[in-house]
Amino acid sequence: MSKDITLPTGDFPTLEQGWVWLCGAGPGDPGLLTLHALNALKQADVVIYDALVNDAILDWAPQAEKIYAGKRGGKPSAKQRDISLHLVELAQSGKRVLRLKGGDPFVFGRGGEEAQTLIQHGVPVRIIPGISAGIGGLAYAGIPVTHRDVNQSVTFVTGHDQSGETPSSLNWQAISDGSQVLVIYMGIKHVERIAGELLNAGRGVDEPVAVVTSATTPEQRVLETTLGNLKSDMDAAGMTPPAIICVGKSVLMRQVLDWQGMMNGETPRNLDPLNRGRPAEAS
Ligand code: SAH
Repeated sequence: MSKDITLPTGDFPTLEQGWVWLCGAGPGDPGLLTLHALNALKQADVVIYDALVNDAILDWAPQAEKIYAGKRGGKPSAKQRDISLHLVELAQSGKRVLRLKGGDPFVFGRGGEEAQTLIQHGVPVRIIPGISAGIGGLAYAGIPVTHRDVNQSVTFVTGHDQSGETPSSLNWQAISDGSQVLVIYMGIKHVERIAGELLNAGRGVDEPVAVVTSATTPEQRVLETTLGNLKSDMDAAGMTPPAIICVGKSVLMRQVLDWQGMMNGETPRNLDPLNRGRPAEAS
């Protein structure tokens, strides 16, 4: 991949000294970065990045000091408050600071907290959204997060909260009743409990489920299973984080939309997985 990638001509903002740009890096594939993110990488004095940020992306900021602030991968974990205060300190020392987070900074990424702390300390911020794993990661697996024949709503759920437990504040009955498609972040650790809650709430044992790990990277793996078999199939397949779990019939669309499989020469398994018997666009 080219390391001297250039921005197209356009009116991109200047990252000024003393500012922090809080930026999403997308789910992994560097090509999913936004132009604002690339513009930020080119100007930053320092990049503070999370575990899920791809190294190839950091290579696009050769001039910048890189500081790891992730909470994964066996490296010592930084406390959220310390990370936020470190950002304040760097900005107040006059640096151009790029805070790079996986996916979208405001989707289960604690970006709101970091931005709030910065603003409370008088540090000016710009927020640069990114492609969230629960949307873009599923798209790479050939799963449309909404599909007209399947769902008119989608619910994003986190599988564990700050304490590491399944969030007790979640009303699984309401979640189950309220949305045909559920997209679960950080769900691997508590997958058995989550599947149990959904089954208790009335979702079917045969309901289609996909688990997509390391989505959009060369290590991407996709497991297609059912709610009833989720835990055992995940164990058998040895699926490891990071993973997005998608529950609902949109998972069936992968039988026709697995575009990565097709790039590798596979033929679509089923051209009409929802058995509509009519052109895709017909109502
Ligand atoms: N802000 C991020 C989410 C951070 S929480 C976003 O918008 O995507 C971290 C969780 O995101 C992981 O536990 C996993 O559930 C999900 N995730 C992030 N990147 C992923 C990837 N490449 N593949 C699968 N899941 C991913």
